[in-house]
Amino acid sequence: MFCTHCGNKLDPSSRFCPACGTSVPLAATPFVDLFSSTGKLVRPRLNRMVAGVCVAFAQQYGWDLTVVRIVTALLIVLTGVGALAYIAAWVIIPEEPLVLPTKSI
Ligand SMILES: [Zn+2]
Repeated sequence: MFCTHCGNKLDPSSRFCPACGTSVPLAATPFVDLFSSTGKLVRPRLNRMVAGVCVAFAQQYGWDLTVVRIVTALLIVLTGVGALAYIAAWVIIPEEPLVLPTKSI
């Protein structure tokens, strides 16, 4: 791949042109990666502090659980919107199904 600004040859993994500093457009930007996930959003039964909403998002998108909790706490304390969003997520996101031991008769 080549720089769209100066035509310099670029390393496929580089995000900026080393010659002119132009940012290289990527198909998969970090922001897209932030929300790419597989599987269903559920509230896990383990590791939760209140309702498992933070754990659900952290597990689903591979975010750091501590960071998610801090951001959530800040949103709740600073805006109040966070509390509504948390309760909404609590209601909307289904709880992880209980894993029951399979019966063998
Ligand atoms: Zn360039």
